[in-house]
Amino acid sequence: MPNRSFYHEILTEHNLHPMHKHPLPEANVVLDGVNPSCGDEITLQLRLEEGKILEGAFVGEGCAISQASVDIMLDQIIGQDIEFARRRLCLFLRMIQGEADEAEIEALEEASALRDISHMPARVKCAVLGWHTLEEALDKV
Ligand code: ZN
Repeated sequence: MPNRSFYHEILTEHNLHPMHKHPLPEANVVLDGVNPSCGDEITLQLRLEEGKILEGAFVGEGCAISQASVDIMLDQIIGQDIEFARRRLCLFLRMIQGEADEAEIEALEEASALRDISHMPARVKCAVLGWHTLEEALDKV
């Protein structure tokens, strides 16, 4: 199991240099997500076609955890089909609820950097903001 500073580095990197934080004018599914308890706001933008997530991006503001989490999420679902994204989402939420086992957490790749959030109730809403917004967005299609 990687150590804590490794996880911290992943979050810092995604926060300082998010790869997917930009407008996506060609998006065909756009949804806002808000976490009032922390002041996090994102707009998730996806371009979906024939059950696949062809492109994805977000814009917004908020704490490091909320912004890093959505960037990591997009990294994992762009180019994948919607069913894969739903499974990923389900697994991530299980980890945050402290229900995933070690093998499942490992399968989450970089998103596993957020595993300790399950012990920090005040930050859970920050970590799941992007993922819950994704869930809602996929339910619309
Ligand atoms: Zn937050």
